[in-house]
Amino acid sequence: MNDFPLLEREMNGRPLVYLDNAATTQKPQRVLDVMERYYRMHNANVHRGVYQLAAEATDLYEAARAKVAAFLHAQGEGQIVFTRGTTEGINLVAQGYLAQKLQPGDRILLTVSEHHSNLVPWQRVAKERGAVLRFLPLLSDGTIDLVAAAREITPRTKCIALAHISNVLGTIHPIRALADLAHAAGAVIVVDAAQSVPHMPVDVQALDCDFLAFSGHKTYGPTGIGALYGKTELLAQTEPVQSGGEMIDTVELYDSTWKPAPWKFEAGTPAIAEAVGLGAAVDFLTWLGMEHVHETIQDVTQYAYEKLREIEGLTLYGPTSRGGVIAFNLGTIHPHDVATVLDAHGIAVRAGHHCAQPLMRWLGVTSTVRASFGIYNTRADVDALVTALARVKEVFH
Ligand code: PLP
Repeated sequence: MNDFPLLEREMNGRPLVYLDNAATTQKPQRVLDVMERYYRMHNANVHRGVYQLAAEATDLYEAARAKVAAFLHAQGEGQIVFTRGTTEGINLVAQGYLAQKLQPGDRILLTVSEHHSNLVPWQRVAKERGAVLRFLPLLSDGTIDLVAAAREITPRTKCIALAHISNVLGTIHPIRALADLAHAAGAVIVVDAAQSVPHMPVDVQALDCDFLAFSGHKTYGPTGIGALYGKTELLAQTEPVQSGGEMIDTVELYDSTWKPAPWKFEAGTPAIAEAVGLGAAVDFLTWLGMEHVHETIQDVTQYAYEKLREIEGLTLYGPTSRGGVIAFNLGTIHPHDVATVLDAHGIAVRAGHHCAQPLMRWLGVTSTVRASFGIYNTRADVDALVTALARVKEVFH
């Protein structure tokens, strides 16, 4: 796919093979063009000016919100809050929504495989409110044991928060089944969709999730922008975490009132060009078709899984059926050493704990190598990885 200028670069004298898409994706030319055109032709602050240019900027910003709403199959754009990314979305739910609902002894249910972004905000709110963190039982391949999960969800459970797709194991969690269990117990379900929104069709109504957060930069869009979906009645009950300009309705010297959602959550000048860029990324993915995106990434991931499995001494983590993420270790070679040799071959992979330290402990390792796939990756990229891994073995044995 030649829509991505950065992928034409060479690294260390080799064609770049970019396999760190779970960290961030590269940007298609049309996203870059739309952002550049925004600054060249339409730049003004939003929701303020009465002049034509300000109206254009506001229309573009709000049109991007409508695009995200349609992309997630939300009921309307009022359910889409622009954030800086997944992390900010989850923090908003933890501090703005759950904090006021929790009583001492209430439970928040997570999994041990969560990204720190979907763990630390819950730890903080639990400590502040005297609530208890509990963890859904996982089977040995990292999938959720639904029978045990059903037992774990009690009337004290106020919130279940988990990744749709694990950024390490690639596990695709059964969100709808968990949403049904959560709702039967009177709890809300919060979905960390950082890895799923770029990979597969995500329909918030079909999932029946209460909140869902994702990041623009992992979705072929710019950094500094993401979105939080929330059900209308829950967003109405959520307090803004930041306050100031733009989010207010009236301000007196000693008191103020807010605008309705989603604007009450967007204090200050928002990331306008980035929101417009995210709208362009959504257009790009819609044009490709999310079913096609899903099939393409699944194909390359399954191919990689089979090829990597054939390498002697290589340990794979996670289930066979998975999203576009494969974490592995090569014998006892340190993941940083593996990644360094791969880099010398032009191959960019991640090595480390992947912001999931409790999961590393659960796996009994300190770190892993991670290859993660995007829409532009091909089986040839996987072949290059496998060839370079053979070199890694030669270097270290
Ligand atoms: N959740 C998951 C599963 C992720 O993979 C990531 C990013 O790596 C995040 C949350 C945090 O995303 P961001 O840093 O864009 O807020």
